[in-house]
Amino acid sequence: MTARILHGWFKKRAKVKFTERLEVCLRRFSPEEDVRPCKLTVRAMTRRWGSLTALRNMTLHIRLVGASIHCIDYVITHQLCHALIPYHGHVLRFAGQKTSKLVEPEGQIRTSLSLT
Ligand SMILES: [Zn+2]
Repeated sequence: MTARILHGWFKKRAKVKFTERLEVCLRRFSPEEDVRPCKLTVRAMTRRWGSLTALRNMTLHIRLVGASIHCIDYVITHQLCHALIPYHGHVLRFAGQKTSKLVEPEGQIRTSLSLT
């Protein structure tokens, strides 16, 4: 019971933080690029830090909340790029332009999960 309450609190906290960082990340894009997601979901993910569906539903891994602001922004910006370019390989190059001022996530984020 306590674990469930704690998980709920943690999830709510993550959603507040990610929503805040999403607004900051959206400033990297022009209004014409129009990359704002329709929905933001926070949950435990098994293989990825985040995803963006064709319907623009963004999902972020709950564990990302423990990462640095740079890492969170890097993942969110990468996912926002997917609103313009669905293919991951092309996004990596494009996202590089949008995230050039961000520190490349290192060990903290490149653990067992990948950035897709
Ligand atoms: Zn990707």
